[in-house]
Order: sequence, then structure tokens, then C-alpha cells
Amino acid sequence: MLSLCSPHVHTPYCDGQSTIDEMVQAALDAGFVSLGFSSHAVQDIDPEYCIAREKEQDYIDEVNAAQKVYEDRIRIWRGIERDSVSDADRARYEYVLGAVHYMPDGEFVMCVDGNANQLQKEIDRRYGGQGARMAIDYYQALGAYIRSYRPDIIAHFDLVMKNNRKHQLFDPQDPAVFDAARSAMEEAIQGCQVLEINTGAMVRSGAKEPYPSLPLLKHWRHLGGQVILASDCHFALHIAACYEEGLALMRAAGYREMLILGRNKELFETVPL
Ligand SMILES: [Zn+2]
Ligand SMILES: [Zn+2]
Repeated sequence: MLSLCSPHVHTPYCDGQSTIDEMVQAALDAGFVSLGFSSHAVQDIDPEYCIAREKEQDYIDEVNAAQKVYEDRIRIWRGIERDSVSDADRARYEYVLGAVHYMPDGEFVMCVDGNANQLQKEIDRRYGGQGARMAIDYYQALGAYIRSYRPDIIAHFDLVMKNNRKHQLFDPQDPAVFDAARSAMEEAIQGCQVLEINTGAMVRSGAKEPYPSLPLLKHWRHLGGQVILASDCHFALHIAACYEEGLALMRAAGYREMLILGRNKELFETVPL
């Protein structure tokens, strides 16, 4: 049987809906061999969605306590999903998922996976209404952040598709956008070789496919990048939601093995697909 995990799990310390204990129970029920918590790291731009500064130690303590309680049954990892706008100290965590959700511009902030109307307003203000220019900017910001920060895992590479399901903002096949995404991968792989196959949006916002899209994943494989399956789970019932689709995507891109979070000391293990 395939060994599964999720390195991308939220908690009520950020915008997760299930407790740490409920998430671990769900992971055990799903037969996971490991589980990584990754609440949104402290940042001041959009505090509603991240761990409150004064609660960060509580988050760490609670994950540490769960590690001990469940140590005979499942390896739990203390991680964090860290944005380019965060000042979280990675030394406090066993691993970091690197992500770009926010693109600040002076007093204005654009959240690429946030409210669609607000995103459109920023596209109008910054890019003269051209969504493709926003997408190109996003990919450049992501590639630069991953290259310089060197996280352990890259989160939802084409998150910018969240508000673009019907291609209302831009055409992802537009050569300028696709080239920017591929260039961002070439930049990012210099800082991190592990990309998540993220099924979270399939249950939460009706996406038809995981992040990243098949053409981008093929490019990642061509570059020699590795992959890890992740549910970006906010609700315990969804701990392994759409994993079949995630596995199918990896196989379609030509992958014959993937990484999981390790069962012991090593952060990653390789398992056949
Ligand atoms: Zn995220
Ligand atoms: Zn997340």
C-alpha cells in the first residue's frame, strides 16, 4: 500500500477549522504514516488568517505535545506555511512551506487567492486591468522568494489560478504567462527542489485539478524537481481529499516516485508511486 502523509495542514491558530487532535485522528484513520502541521506564519499584513504573534508559542507547544502523545502511532512534524511578507523565525520549526499569497505595494496589498473583487481592483489599479501582468508579477515574486529564502517545500505554485477558474483574469496558455511560470520554476528550483501537489482547492473552491497544472508539473520534472502530495487541509474530513487525483497528476507528468514526510528523523523519504 502507498505510504501517505500531508505536509500542509492548518489549525485553529490560523484559518483551520479542526483542532490539532482532530487532524491527527483523521490522519490515523486515513492510514497516514506522518503528518505535518503548517499554520500560516505570523505576519502583519492580514493578521486574521495567520497565527497571532502572542499565540505562536502556544501553537508550537501544542504541536510538540501532539508529537509526544502520538509518537508510537504517527510521526508528527512541526512546520509552518511562511509567506514572503512574514517575519517568522524558521529556527522554531522543523520545516517550512514557502508561499506567496500577498503582494504589497506601499499601503496597498493584493492577495492573489483572496476576495475576487478586491483582486480585480488591484489589477485595475496596478496593471491597467491586465490580469496577465498580475500573473507574471506573481510568478516573478514567487520564484525570487523561493530562490532567496530556500524553504523546504514550495506551496501551491500556481495559486494565482484560484480566482481564474474560468480564465476571466488571464489565459494560462498565454505564452507570456506560461513563460513567466516556467521561468519562476527555474528560479525557484535553485532554492528548493520539492514542490507540493496541492489538492486543497479541489475540495474548498471547486478547482478541477490540483496545483500545479500538468504542463507546469511536466516542466518541473524536466528540471529534475521532486514532488510531495499535500491536502492543504483546513477541515479534518478533508485530510486526504482528492489524493487519487493528485497521484494521477504526478503519474501523468511521468513521476514514478514521490516524497513523503519521514517516519523518523529525516524530513523526507522517497516512496514509489
Ligand atoms: Zn497557502
Ligand atoms: Zn495552506
